[in-house]
Amino acid sequence: MKTHQCPICGSKRTFLDIIPQGYQYICTQCGLCALRQFTPQEAAEAWNELVFKFPPIMRVHQGNNLKLDFNDDILTVIGKDTDRCKIYLEDYKGNTEIATPDDVDQWPWEIEQKGGRQ
Ligand SMILES: [Zn+2]
Repeated sequence: MKTHQCPICGSKRTFLDIIPQGYQYICTQCGLCALRQFTPQEAAEAWNELVFKFPPIMRVHQGNNLKLDFNDDILTVIGKDTDRCKIYLEDYKGNTEIATPDDVDQWPWEIEQKGGRQ
């Protein structure tokens, strides 16, 4: 099972820690960890559940692709300002766009589910 990127630091590296009472996923960069579970599969699910409790702007990271309401192209995230709720994007031609979470039609994890990652 694929684990989602850490919402705190954006790291893709999670570590499955095997502890006497079970398993838990920990972010190798910032130490965010999900609840302890009995199987690695449940540990991965617990991590993803934890990630999805964070607001979407916390879950997008540089290099992710998303789609806006008013733009048909898939845009790449080049940066974000979580204090101001702004996401900075670039299209394949190199044009930049500034969006807010309200402008987003499909988040990276919604695009991935449709299998259309380009
Ligand atoms: Zn982290």
